[in-house]
Amino acid sequence: MVPNEPGLVDLPTVFEEIHVSKFDYDLFVIGAGSGGVRAARMAAGFGAKVAIAEDRYMGGTCVNVGCVPKKLYVYAAEYGKGFADARGFGWHSEAPRFDWTTLRENKKAEISRLNAIYRNLLDGTGAVVVDGRARIIDPHTVAVGETRYTAEKLLIATGGWPHIPDFPGSEYALSSNEIFDLDSFPDRVVIVGGGYIAVEFAGIFNGLGAQTTQLYRGPLFLRGFDTDIRAHAAREIAKSGVDLRFEVNVESISRDADALTLQLTDDSVIQADAVLYATGRKANLEGLGLENVNVNVNEHGAIEVDENYSTSEPGIFALGDVTGGLELTPVALAEGMAFARRNFGGLEKPVAYDFIPTAVFCQPPIGTVGYTEEEARGKFGDITLFKSSFRPMKHTISGRDEKTFMKVIVDTATDRVVGVHMMGPDAGEIIQGIAIAMRAGATKAIFDATIGIHPTTAEEFVTLREPWLQD
Ligand code: FAD
Ligand code: NDP
Repeated sequence: MVPNEPGLVDLPTVFEEIHVSKFDYDLFVIGAGSGGVRAARMAAGFGAKVAIAEDRYMGGTCVNVGCVPKKLYVYAAEYGKGFADARGFGWHSEAPRFDWTTLRENKKAEISRLNAIYRNLLDGTGAVVVDGRARIIDPHTVAVGETRYTAEKLLIATGGWPHIPDFPGSEYALSSNEIFDLDSFPDRVVIVGGGYIAVEFAGIFNGLGAQTTQLYRGPLFLRGFDTDIRAHAAREIAKSGVDLRFEVNVESISRDADALTLQLTDDSVIQADAVLYATGRKANLEGLGLENVNVNVNEHGAIEVDENYSTSEPGIFALGDVTGGLELTPVALAEGMAFARRNFGGLEKPVAYDFIPTAVFCQPPIGTVGYTEEEARGKFGDITLFKSSFRPMKHTISGRDEKTFMKVIVDTATDRVVGVHMMGPDAGEIIQGIAIAMRAGATKAIFDATIGIHPTTAEEFVTLREPWLQD
């Protein structure tokens, strides 16, 4: 399976009128990441003449410094606790030793394999891959190095780039781009931030055996997630061994021969071997040549687009992370497909932005789809809640102190399930299935009429009978 390319099927060639164009290409895509590759492949499949420029790595953030290497490291981290769990089931062995170099090099080999697959996929559709950084010269011209290319349509799919705030010693902070390929494994890690990347990497380093501290500036991390999930996550992650500290930030970082020293806003001091800043990402517009065209950028630095991914400059489009929407690979893929269908396939099938499921791959993972309780109250008024918290069957014998939490939010007037949130083993896998039911408009009555699979964690979602009455 190519991780970034689920379910792509051969397309009919409907972009087939024979036209003599005054441009070199019908479409020039800037950035061969999730969105750009998908748009290029699909447009070429419709018969368009396509070129795509990439200056770093085929497959973009997700394949090289995002979802894929992250998930491989999550698997590695989960073994740590897995060995301990196994003892309760009768397995005894010497305490295993973790070797960072093996993990890092095996990861590199897998990413190289995927880079080659991406290039072959593009070659296979007839899209021309141009290696190098693209700069827009005018609405129909792009330069890569000394060569200029003209196209009827330009698509900006340049993604995002980690943002580290400026403060004394910020030069010692690493971003997610560097963290995957550290020369040696850090025994002590500090992670700053309370979003997806910070939470996931705290789990990775903790699971791999580093002494891990996570600092978040607000009262409760994972802003934007359901409050019950955020509170449950704080409890479980702290129990798992991460030194989780809220309402604190870094004032400065200094370095001596042995360690990095972090001065914190609560007057405490921490020593570390590595500091990861996971404080958000910004649109990657560096050197893109936007000053040469009339493309509006919003106050967050992201490219403004309408519902058809058109920018304010006719003929120039943008999609994926560079537009500052939901920064998720499946969203960039869906946007790339909608763009290609509309512009080269004559098909209108817009992306449905409601009920987009997502997961945070911490330990245990979080899976979520639909409205949070707070959002649902605001939108529907009268809602009914169902909650459940329990120790998973596996941990009755493993002895691991870990609880699963599940929550279902129902619009009382229509009985429609409008939010499902979970933290527990396989949450991402479970919520993907629930998301299909929710897109189909499933009501709580349909959940209740569904027979469970026993014994599983997921069956709890079809046996939640009693509404949650108080908090
Ligand atoms: P990108 O994939 O970033 O691609 C942009 C490409 O454009 C890059 O290859 C870049 O080199 C290239 N480029 C930029 N400027 C130029 C130029 N001027 N000329 C030529 N090329 C250029 N999402 C999930 O759904 N699940 C996850 O588990 C997940 N984990 C993540 C973990 C991490 C650590 C990070 C950082 C992100 C993660 N994401 C995850 C988010 C996901 O990676 C992004 O949403 C997705 O990659 C966005 O795709 P894109 O096409 O918009 O941009
Ligand atoms: P997020 O925007 O998710 O989180 C950034 C975090 O940094 C927030 O907690 C924010 O705090 C905090 N922060 C921002 N500025 C500062 C500062 N100056 N000092 C201290 N803290 C600060 O970004 P990430 O970098 O974690 O990830 C980027 C995006 O990539 C995600 O939003 C997600 O869309 C995608 N992604 C998806 C994954 C998945 O699907 N599993 C995994 C990883 C990334 P506050 O909340 O107070 O603003």
